[in-house]
Amino acid sequence: MNDYLKLMYKDCKIDEKVLSFCTGIEEGLKERFAELDEVAEYNQMKVLAAMRKNKVSDAHFNDSTGYGYDDIGRDTLEAVYASVFHTESALVRPNLVSGTHALSVALSANVRPGDEILSPVGKPYDTLEGVIGIRECKGSLAEYGVTYAQVDLKKNGMIDFDGVKAAINERTKLVTIQRSKGYQTRPTLSVGAIGVLISFIKNIKPDIICMVDNCYGEFVEVIEPTDVGADLCVGSLIKNPGGGLAPIGGYIVGKEEYVENCACRLTAPGLGKEVGASLGLNRAFFQGLFLAPTVVAGALKGAIFAANVYERLGFPVLPNGKEPRYDIIQAVTLKSREAMLAFCHGIQEAAPVDSYVVPEPWAMPGYHDEVVMAAGAFIQGSSIELSADGPVTEPYAVYFQGGLTWYHAKFGIINSVQKLFEQGLVLC
Ligand SMILES: *Cc1c(COP(=O)(O)O)cnc(C)c1O
Repeated sequence: MNDYLKLMYKDCKIDEKVLSFCTGIEEGLKERFAELDEVAEYNQMKVLAAMRKNKVSDAHFNDSTGYGYDDIGRDTLEAVYASVFHTESALVRPNLVSGTHALSVALSANVRPGDEILSPVGKPYDTLEGVIGIRECKGSLAEYGVTYAQVDLKKNGMIDFDGVKAAINERTKLVTIQRSKGYQTRPTLSVGAIGVLISFIKNIKPDIICMVDNCYGEFVEVIEPTDVGADLCVGSLIKNPGGGLAPIGGYIVGKEEYVENCACRLTAPGLGKEVGASLGLNRAFFQGLFLAPTVVAGALKGAIFAANVYERLGFPVLPNGKEPRYDIIQAVTLKSREAMLAFCHGIQEAAPVDSYVVPEPWAMPGYHDEVVMAAGAFIQGSSIELSADGPVTEPYAVYFQGGLTWYHAKFGIINSVQKLFEQGLVLC
């Protein structure tokens, strides 16, 4: 490390012991990081090829208003997404207001009363419980006569294929597969594993629509679920594929027929994809997608660095420091309230926005326990930006993700260790 950088860390109040402990760990990760860089390089070229193929041009950055008819920027952006994901069609819109909304549209557009949705990978993401009606909720699919079945993963985290086979019936219309563990303790599924599951399902009943919740997974591997048979793939633009620049939005990619159903649900039957003004956001969507592979690689480096640092400090981490990665989320079990708050304080203090505030636990509506969150983001709630949160209760696990640059993620993690060090909660 050069003297300027050493001085910079000193100016940022990082103890020499903390710094040398952390940089020692970074030293050991060079090979891992080189592999990540190669995945990022591949995905950069994949995105670039899609932009070249679809002749992205300055004119596509103009905005549209009102109905948004003939918005060539919007239409070209959707063609680029379809190229990146190797699908027939794409819907990429600012009025898909979040990942949950995009998933809600994809589900409700492709089932009808009397149909059944099956999750073969256990309980879906919290917010989808309301959408499906697992938890009673106004406007849920349950209210429209759509039923839901679930097959839990086995104790070892593997898919229960016998259970899945037994759960499929003549009413099973759509299977929803969540790639990322989200905020659970199950393993994240690799794209390869998703492919095996989809083939298994299609073998039993070929007309089942296989939908993948791709949140947090985009560009982590060189293939996406649509490369292994997913009919629909859905995600949020304020996570991986927005590259930190998209200020809002969601995407749905997949088979023409199913994406068209989504467009007719999002706007109105008969209008579909033809309407929806882009309101000047096209440039941010294109540029964010262009940067996304590099941003995701930076976030992954941060996650792997955090896993190795905290593992060495004696805290349980998931995934562990050596495991392959299939999403950008890192769980660290901090084992005490003090350590959890110190960790989040360190992340918050290292943020470019709201660095001066100290995260406090609060009783968030809809949660059983108090929750603490550290996020100093340019885009509200963006979790491709450096952020950490978790319920302030046993075992005091914090979920950590993001970082628009590796250097920021690295400093955030070092600063979190510094906070624990200052309180005598760790020795370096
Ligand atoms: C974030 C996330 C969602 C929901 O996205 P929001 O934008 O927060 O509504 C759904 N599924 C998974 C796996 C996620 O990580």
